[in-house]
Amino acid sequence: MELAIFGGSPVRNKPLPYAKQYIDDDDCQAVNEVLKSDFLTTGPKAKEFENIVAEYVGAKYAVAFANGTAALHGACFAAGIKQGDEVITTPITFAASANCIRYMGAVPVFADINKDTFNIDVEDIARKITNKTKAIIPVDYTGQATDLDAIKELVKGTDIIIIEDSAHALGTKYKGTTVGGIADMTEFSFHPVKTITTGEGGIITTNNEEYYNRLMNFRSHCITRDIEQLENKDVGNWYYEQLDLGMNYRITDFQCALGISQMKKLDWFISRRKEIVNKYNEAFKELEGVILQENAYFSDTVNHLYVLKLDLSMLKADRKEIYNALIAEHIGVHVHYIPVYWLPYYQRLGYKKGLCPNAEDLYNSMLTLPLFPAMSDEDVNDVINGFYKVINYYKN
Ligand SMILES: *Cc1c(COP(=O)(O)O)cnc(C)c1O
Repeated sequence: MELAIFGGSPVRNKPLPYAKQYIDDDDCQAVNEVLKSDFLTTGPKAKEFENIVAEYVGAKYAVAFANGTAALHGACFAAGIKQGDEVITTPITFAASANCIRYMGAVPVFADINKDTFNIDVEDIARKITNKTKAIIPVDYTGQATDLDAIKELVKGTDIIIIEDSAHALGTKYKGTTVGGIADMTEFSFHPVKTITTGEGGIITTNNEEYYNRLMNFRSHCITRDIEQLENKDVGNWYYEQLDLGMNYRITDFQCALGISQMKKLDWFISRRKEIVNKYNEAFKELEGVILQENAYFSDTVNHLYVLKLDLSMLKADRKEIYNALIAEHIGVHVHYIPVYWLPYYQRLGYKKGLCPNAEDLYNSMLTLPLFPAMSDEDVNDVINGFYKVINYYKN
């Protein structure tokens, strides 16, 4: 069969995206009800959504934010990260994981990834800890849990705070425990491509009451009327104080109503994602020219992304040619992610290419395949067939 990129017919007629939200009539009705109620912005639905997420992940507290990036910014504020502090994270992530460090004027320090699991390499974290290290932001990349016990062991006896970026990992379990109550703070994102959506949205879960109070304040300008927190207590009922420099990172109540409605479908989202991942793994494990992401024994993974690595030594094409050929077949492949320190902003800060060789090697040979719960079995087969068609064509 001739490849579509050379004029053959594509494996499917309609382009398949790499990710897509799933919204049903219940979701629409939930949003509608709030639109006609008294509260549009952060109100009772936000509280209810926070309680549902906190309970689901096994954390005492949750604070919902306007988006996941804002939530990470809040976590960095709550952790007390300051100018000159160092914070360790992975380069194979969305820029937000490092940008939140920069918002505090602190310095992102990139630890390399493990070349098999693609998650941050704990041994490289150990090498990069200095007396300036204030926090570590491990990312549950693709949805796979990072080795939290190993990271906790590293920081034992220090003040280093662990902020887990679980934007990809709602529902993932680490050694049998759902992620969200294990690190000092955990962030989830509700962007439409993520496991559940609120349109835009994010949340921090924590068991620490002090972090919880700081997160709540930061979300709304650090302005408070809470008598316990006021410096001047006997002024009057109109009185408020701004205690620090916060933001307006509030989420609306209609977004949270959508979140509550989406949480009811989470079990189905998870099982459908796992089903598709199993089909891909079965189909591709024997295919020469590709290397599958290894899943660490401690992670019961809910994949947000399905990423695999091309074995370029077996192929007479590079990643770009294979990417273009798959797009021509109408298979919506993608690349997650460009190493963060390669981005021009970080290059201008002085980060050098070559810093994290495993991350750069992965970037040069990786592809993300379509994965979302509303994919039909036919869609899944199209991806498998399209991938076989293209890889077999380019095999050495
Ligand atoms: C999606 C994502 C975030 C947060 O993104 P928002 O679009 O701001 O919700 C943070 N970290 C990672 C790794 C992400 O993929």
